Amino acid sequence: MNYPPQIPEDTVPFEDGLRDIIPEKIEEVLEQLDNLTARYEEEQKVIQKLALKGDLDEPSQYFWNLWNELKYKNFFILKKWLWYWIGLYDKLPRSEIKHTPFLDKAILDKADVLRAKERPIEQFYGGKLTGTVRLCGLCPFHKENSPSFFIFTNSNTFHCFGCQAGGDVIEFVMKKFNIDFKEALKMLL
Ligand SMILES: [Zn+2]
Repeated sequence: MNYPPQIPEDTVPFEDGLRDIIPEKIEEVLEQLDNLTARYEEEQKVIQKLALKGDLDEPSQYFWNLWNELKYKNFFILKKWLWYWIGLYDKLPRSEIKHTPFLDKAILDKADVLRAKERPIEQFYGGKLTGTVRLCGLCPFHKENSPSFFIFTNSNTFHCFGCQAGGDVIEFVMKKFNIDFKEALKMLL
């Protein structure tokens, strides 16, 4: 596996072409990452099975260290490719880029998204809330004089019965601060 090249300084002459290929390239790398994960899980199972049956000596720590090193090197290179395509994507004029869910996913690791989702919504609400498990307050997304907005702390989700706004903490900060998915994650992590 090869490392990606440097991101060119001037991408303007290639904009039309890049717009067409980047979504597919990113999807391709994501697929490779998934395949690699599956392959290593499979290999590990085979090695452990052989060792259990006695067909193979119990692999030493040294073996596993080497194995992990190789495994993570391949992951590392693929991640570099992912950042390469995302870096190119970032250089295209914003207004012309279609917002697609898989790009959102690619921008940060799944683990980061899960971590971001753990930040309590009420920390970003910035107003008075009543209640304990189910918090109630004025809706930040429509004008009202008495509360119809709820934060459900168990699921860390929100819902407004007045304007139907709702979702998780990522959607909350996106809407409240008028930022995109990537910026919301940055704020939450
Ligand atoms: Zn509302």
